[in-house]
Amino acid sequence: MNIAIIGAGLAGLTAAYELRNSGNKVDVYEATDRLGGKLYTVAFEAGPTDMGAEAFMARRKDAVEFFTEVGVGDSLVEPSGLRSLVWVDGEARGLPTGGVMGIPSHSETVKHLVSDETAQRIDDEANRAGFTWDTGGDMNAGKLVRDRYGDEVVDNIVSALLGGVYSCTADDLGVRATIPQLAAELDRLAEAGDRTVHLSTAIANLERSRKEMPTGQGAVFNAFRNGYQELYETLAEKSGADIYIDAFVSSISREGEGFRIKGGEDTVYDHVILAVPAPTAALLLKEIAPEAAEKLQTVQLANSAVVGMRFATDEGLPENSGVLVANGAEDVKAKAFTLSSRKWPHLAERGGALVRASFGRFGDNIALTATEDDLVDWALDDLKTVTGFDGREAGLEEIYVQRWFGGLPRFDEHHLDTVAAVRSLLDDVAGISVTGAWASGVGVPAVVADARVVAKQLL
Ligand SMILES: Cc1cc2nc3c(=O)[nH]c(=O)nc-3n(C[C@H](O)[C@H](O)[C@H](O)COP(=O)(O)OP(=O)(O)OC[C@H]3O[C@@H](n4cnc5c(N)ncnc54)[C@H](O)[C@@H]3O)c2cc1C
Repeated sequence: MNIAIIGAGLAGLTAAYELRNSGNKVDVYEATDRLGGKLYTVAFEAGPTDMGAEAFMARRKDAVEFFTEVGVGDSLVEPSGLRSLVWVDGEARGLPTGGVMGIPSHSETVKHLVSDETAQRIDDEANRAGFTWDTGGDMNAGKLVRDRYGDEVVDNIVSALLGGVYSCTADDLGVRATIPQLAAELDRLAEAGDRTVHLSTAIANLERSRKEMPTGQGAVFNAFRNGYQELYETLAEKSGADIYIDAFVSSISREGEGFRIKGGEDTVYDHVILAVPAPTAALLLKEIAPEAAEKLQTVQLANSAVVGMRFATDEGLPENSGVLVANGAEDVKAKAFTLSSRKWPHLAERGGALVRASFGRFGDNIALTATEDDLVDWALDDLKTVTGFDGREAGLEEIYVQRWFGGLPRFDEHHLDTVAAVRSLLDDVAGISVTGAWASGVGVPAVVADARVVAKQLL
């Protein structure tokens, strides 16, 4: 079989790897001049440094096992475990430890982040009438938490945490789409009762089952010692596929039983795997699967920018992994700081300090319109504001600005239905599969798992 994979990000390269030794001819087309997509390791003088994804959820043992199989398992490293902070009302305060994605079961863990009135409201939630939860359905995360606990919990905590992962506030995200364990618990409660449920009960149940989990499972997150480059280059190399860079695919059309790719080799492909962001997939499906294309057009993307900064000294940098910024903070433009050399011992070993500032949430244009100079100035100013660390005085040695146009798909409360509808429509179009962050979930383990399933279906 001739197989074309469009997109050499994590999904495309994982699919190509999975198809190695399958006896098929596999061609991968990548529009840009490099591999990896949102995985991007930049050669800082101090050492390779990730400017896209920097970590992954290591509790996903399937991902760790896959990386080990690929041959890069020995490069996995653990974080220091230092606590993160959140910038609220002009002060850096400790991120709550309990709860789920910052949603508490009671006020005790968040009372330093909300008013007394909100704390009372959280504690009273279980005594108020419950809310209706449709089993298997989804609901806007911001709306749910605002309704039950009030605005401060959303703006000061939940949006700050979700924003760090999804580049969206809670108001642009779905519960099931982004906090699936909470949705599952709400399902369970709804099924057990009369469909009227309480948020605090669901969170308390999840906290309890977390406590019952066996300890000693290692760090929640891992990273690659020399950045993600090792992973994406190894996947590419071991895949044995022919990989074409600077190969922008502009359309796919039918030719007999197969497909021809505009921008690709002069080959008729029996199967095409689309491993590109949703709007691009929509464009490429237009001719061959118009209904699926139309559905996919509804998926919107969030832009963001990362400013990587290396300083001569780390003196004065707080002993924390990072600082998230509450949504709506007027004194700070950044949405988060990763104090990378504090968070990761392998980066601390390089000496000096490494900090990543992130900008941009869904709906704002900061990552698109700000100049590089502005982004760097804001990163330094905001870092000083939220940590007291004066990067200019500490000696700014290296700097890298990476904009992520359409970096992440918006996982709103309709997203999972859209994905299911697209996949179901494509079931009727033989020879076409889709994978990638919009289809699988944005986390690296989810992207890998989905791409493997999609590739295995061809074997
Ligand atoms: C700033 C940032 C930080 C992140 N941090 C983390 C993290 O710490 N942990 C984590 O688990 N996840 C993180 N993520 C999410 C994770 O990196 C992504 O979900 C994942 O890498 C997406 O992989 P993908 O292959 O689906 O898509 P992409 O990486 O977008 O790959 C798609 C590829 O297709 C190519 N392409 C597009 N159009 C065409 C075309 N017409 N023709 C040919 N090629 C085309 C693109 O150039 C790209 O290379 C982060 C994402 C961002 C943006």
